[in-house]
Amino acid sequence: MNAPDLIFLLLRAATAVLCGVAAREALKRARLPGQPRRRRWRVRFAAAVLLALGVFALEDGVGEALGRPGEPLRWRSWVWVILDLSIPAQVLAVLSTLRQRDRLEAELAAAVRRDPLTGLPNRTGFAEAATLALAAAARDGRPVAGAMLDIDHFKAINDGWGHGAGDLVLRDVAAAMRAVLRPGDVLARVGGEEFALLLPGVDARGAGPLLERLRAAAASVPHPGAPGQRVTLSAGVAVVQGTGLVALESGLRNADGALYAAKAAGRNRVMVAG
Ligand code: GH3
Ligand code: MG
Ligand code: MG
Repeated sequence: MNAPDLIFLLLRAATAVLCGVAAREALKRARLPGQPRRRRWRVRFAAAVLLALGVFALEDGVGEALGRPGEPLRWRSWVWVILDLSIPAQVLAVLSTLRQRDRLEAELAAAVRRDPLTGLPNRTGFAEAATLALAAAARDGRPVAGAMLDIDHFKAINDGWGHGAGDLVLRDVAAAMRAVLRPGDVLARVGGEEFALLLPGVDARGAGPLLERLRAAAASVPHPGAPGQRVTLSAGVAVVQGTGLVALESGLRNADGALYAAKAAGRNRVMVAG
């Protein structure tokens, strides 16, 4: 076999391999959840065409290189070789771009649900996670408590030691509270220095002591002022009855009422609604 025949055969074999890889990758993508049926069939058809092209390329390569060895190849054959090779290569390039877009979309979807300062869910993330947790608790017949928590005199920290010191306190309080909670508890930062909490499996009696633990956790956070000063927070707790966003909001409204009462009663305390 002379050199042009060998190069021809290798390029044809490469086309066949790339066609197989591109067809498999395309089918894999079509199987991802959420793909419309019609698109799935379109992709299957495209995969079949790619496979046919691969078989044709291989058959042509073997036929030219082994069937007619030494015969000069026409310049048109070389053009076809390059064109055929570029088809699966372009399909693979498009699939790679789509994968990159999927990754960016997933990152974006996570980012809109997360508070960048504390890493906790934000209001949007809380609504989603909490309604799921409510539904799961209802299925298991377990009670759910909801709480609103607010750092006391936080403005004084910002005004006295700067916004950066305030940010640090927010981050530390969030981490300290998360550390004493169970994985199934949903804690979120829903405002400047305001947190919402959903406690599946906790009733009105159990909620008070749990919230006291969170208050103690906040007090363990270093205060930017004198060593004797403590970060304190006030909290209101209420039972959340039912499922869905309306039930969640209603329960948290009651908890917010209890939080307001805790502030009015002098702060640094937990009040249970009702
Ligand atoms: P209270 O005890 O009644 O809750 O008083 P407070 O000072 O904690 O509450 P207030 O609502 O008066 O002040 C909250 C402050 O939180 C005002 C706002 O500038 C600050 N804040 C909101 N978001 C952020 C943030 O992301 N970082 C920092 N450092 N401060 C923030
Ligand atoms: Mg406050
Ligand atoms: Mg506040």
